[in-house]
Amino acid sequence: MVLSRKEIGLGYERNFIMPNPKRRHSTRRTANRRAHDFLTASGLSECPSCHEKKLPHRACAKCGDYKGRTVLETKEAAK
Ligand SMILES: [Zn+2]
Repeated sequence: MVLSRKEIGLGYERNFIMPNPKRRHSTRRTANRRAHDFLTASGLSECPSCHEKKLPHRACAKCGDYKGRTVLETKEAAK
């Protein structure tokens, strides 16, 4: 069976209605969803060389050490 343009719907794109929500969500539902929308503080670890709090798996911002060697030049290390 060969379909005509009219049967396929070509040229009728303007009549196509995008899917839309039937009803608005209540403020309670929105608030309940957004109850989980918050940032959590990243855990801090201690620098083994200067014992300053630092982000895990990152070089220490104070002394510039990572895994026992200096990888960053910092003001603290220049002194
Ligand atoms: Zn350090």
